[in-house]
Amino acid sequence: MAHEIKVFNNLSRSKEAFKPIQPGKVGFYSCGPTTYDFVHVGNGRAFVVGDLIHRIFLALDYKVTYVRNFTDVDDKIIERANELKVGALEHAQKYVDEVLTDMDSLGMLPATHTPKVSDTMPEIIEMVKTLIEKGYAYEVEGEILYSVPKFKEYGKLSKINLESLQHGIRVEVDGKKQHPSDFVLWKPAKPGEPSWDSPWGKGRPGWHIECSAMSKKFLGDSFDMHHGGIDLMFPHHENEIAQSEAANGCQFSGCWVHNEFLNFGSEKMSKSLGNVVTIRKFVQEFGGEILRHMLASVHYRSKMDWSDDVIKRALDEVERLHVFALEVSNMKVGEHESGLSELEACLPKMRDELANDFNVPTAQLAFYSFMKTVNREYQGKQPSAKVLKIIKETIEFFTLATGLIHQDASAVLEKVNAAKGKLSGKAGSLDDAAIEQLIKDRGEARANKDWATADKIRDQFKAAGIVLNDNPDGTVSWSYE
Ligand code: AMP
Ligand code: ZN
Repeated sequence: MAHEIKVFNNLSRSKEAFKPIQPGKVGFYSCGPTTYDFVHVGNGRAFVVGDLIHRIFLALDYKVTYVRNFTDVDDKIIERANELKVGALEHAQKYVDEVLTDMDSLGMLPATHTPKVSDTMPEIIEMVKTLIEKGYAYEVEGEILYSVPKFKEYGKLSKINLESLQHGIRVEVDGKKQHPSDFVLWKPAKPGEPSWDSPWGKGRPGWHIECSAMSKKFLGDSFDMHHGGIDLMFPHHENEIAQSEAANGCQFSGCWVHNEFLNFGSEKMSKSLGNVVTIRKFVQEFGGEILRHMLASVHYRSKMDWSDDVIKRALDEVERLHVFALEVSNMKVGEHESGLSELEACLPKMRDELANDFNVPTAQLAFYSFMKTVNREYQGKQPSAKVLKIIKETIEFFTLATGLIHQDASAVLEKVNAAKGKLSGKAGSLDDAAIEQLIKDRGEARANKDWATADKIRDQFKAAGIVLNDNPDGTVSWSYE
């Protein structure tokens, strides 16, 4: 049976028991990226949070239909494609593929459906038609606008009231609009823009309608949870609610979750501010496992800062996790059975933490304490079949729910080592052959009790940012500090 979950629902601004429409089943929608360029690590935070929610539902025994869209029809895409003198849809598809590659390197599970706007035109047009028929939308010069004052509950998610909007400075003046908050559902295409036939002539949709149409297509009129970055709450999500509830006549999403920003210094990381690190660049330099770890280690409702310290901490933790995974994979069944109750307690504890508003960081703490117990009780001792089963099941659960342990532990450890070298700026000052030779020389010096030479070699390693580990089996391994 599915485990009960509590979630901070932004509709009520309170933590609530999560009650899906059908017990044990979740319809989950997450707003995806606009594909006009490589995406940045701030977008990556939204992707990883969506993936964590998906995984946690699965780990807590829910059946999930997960929909994450691609905005492939948009002003920014058209602008960029025109600059590059390529077709807008072709340009957008190139970056859909690039984003999918990035998502893969972040260890994300595939979503159930990943619709694109360009594939959803009939559904979008149908919904705009319904809104006109029901009196929620009007036409001005081939443009269809949503009449915000007609939707009496407007502002129920963002807690913004229409009066304050009308007098606010944020609202632009547009002669076509009956009310300054009215927004575009469909606009006539200009020459050189992609366009689709509609009852209002050739045109293309406004931004907000796509998510209302896509969620209806794959999840129905009402579904259980909607996610996006906090910047999307207003106006995007408020407008989605207005469109869907007016068109369908029932509640749209029962629960709304928003991840906080990833900040760079004191500012949100965003393309327009120009302070971006792309996922692709970071992954090429350090590895997707490290980025995932950084993004998953802060609770989704807390702000997160980007810094070298955060990268360093992630490197150490990814290393600890994969050294542990490697040690466990080498364990054989023996007789030893100690620390049993501590070990058994970890999995239910992680379940409870994750069921408490998707608290990945506290679940991680429970897992670290579990690793400590295994290391303390089973150093050089082989666990009984019962204990080994508990250890493996606990790792399996943690892996499914967080995606923080990866299959090829040795490959991850190599990446961590290379990343540490790059971050310290000392990588490459000694190449692999020189390191091996120095380790050999040090071994000989020590065997000859030539402490002066051994010390000199130790200093050389220190200057190169390298630490040596004398292993119990007599071999020597090395890593960057
Ligand atoms: P966009 O392509 O701008 O619509 O963004 C895709 C997703 O990334 C949305 O859910 C945004 O809210 C989210 N996002 C954009 N910038 C950041 C940031 N700096 N930190 C966290 N999430 C972000
Ligand atoms: Zn959306």
